[in-house]
Amino acid sequence: MRHLMRHLTRPATRPAALAALAALAALAALAARPALAQPAAAQAAPAPPPPPAASRPERWRESPFSGARALRDLRRYAARGHRYYGAPEREQVIEELSRALRGEGEEAPAAPPAAPPAAPPATQLLTQRFEVTERGSGVKYTLTNIIARLAPERRRRVLLGTHWDTRLWAEEDADVARRAAPIVGANDGTSGLAALLELARLLRARPLAHIGVDLVLFDGEELGRPGSDDYCAGSRHLAARLSELYAPPLDPAPAAVVVLDMVGDAELTLPPERSSLQTSRALTQLVWQEASRQGARAFVADRLGPWIIDDHSPFQQLKIPSILLIDYDYSPWHTHHDTADRCSADSLQQVGATLWGALARLDDALAPAPASPPALAPAPQETP
Ligand SMILES: [Zn+2]
Repeated sequence: MRHLMRHLTRPATRPAALAALAALAALAALAARPALAQPAAAQAAPAPPPPPAASRPERWRESPFSGARALRDLRRYAARGHRYYGAPEREQVIEELSRALRGEGEEAPAAPPAAPPAAPPATQLLTQRFEVTERGSGVKYTLTNIIARLAPERRRRVLLGTHWDTRLWAEEDADVARRAAPIVGANDGTSGLAALLELARLLRARPLAHIGVDLVLFDGEELGRPGSDDYCAGSRHLAARLSELYAPPLDPAPAAVVVLDMVGDAELTLPPERSSLQTSRALTQLVWQEASRQGARAFVADRLGPWIIDDHSPFQQLKIPSILLIDYDYSPWHTHHDTADRCSADSLQQVGATLWGALARLDDALAPAPASPPALAPAPQETP
């Protein structure tokens, strides 16, 4: 992931950023149903402004998404060995992740009480294997994207992604002698992974009604030295071949892309990432509005985060609504101190509960329209 500092300091972005903040403030007063894909007339009357964040009930604690279970996965994969390109454990981990995404050997979370048991959606597992040459060094790497398609037959789809690779280098470490050694990447490379594995469990136990979900573990996100353009190799690979995955009868692209990166920090703060708000405002608002409803205080709307190049970026270039959830303010970033003890179940739970709620909203908002709109149906005829 790369941080574009110039977007923080360029004065021309300021009015836009202020307008964006105003939009976020207005968002808090919106009715519960999001504006995404809805005509304005269909929206309910504005609700009264929500109470201040501090007094809002913490609904995220009651979410079926389990931050504790996600933290167990985070710890397990962080202890499992390195996931940089060519690491000896790598093939084994690809196997394990594939099995986990298919739900093999997984304890299923409880189905909702008082609901008839629903059949879990079919899961199609795909891997994309490809070679990338790092431009600076000329070194070739073999990379693997892991894709689990839930309800693969459904036309309208949402892509949830995160990177599963961990960094080969620790260029930010204070110990210069260890900068060439690979990092654990408990938050950077494992927190998003753990959140997606838990969402996969939930999506099987409590299937969505209308949309399909593509869970994508991107490889090669970390394949870049500071300042290089080699980052995000896996998402660039997938975005360049989107039509292979999104072919008729599916829509030609996912309706929304949500990418997680560094969402496990025990001191989590998630301001909207700048490119997300600028290019994909409705989707950003939908997620932050859901966080507000959940009382998930890690999500803040009173400031904007920096502009980040990450796995959402190639999809933004394709004009697909694509957002990134990231806490960039993480001091162990790209050091040997990015370890599991810095991460917390509560942080993962706030993110997971928010995403779970956002998925329900997207499922609603993207439901296929009825074949013939009621307004156009012929009036019943009164025959004598
Ligand atoms: Zn990183």
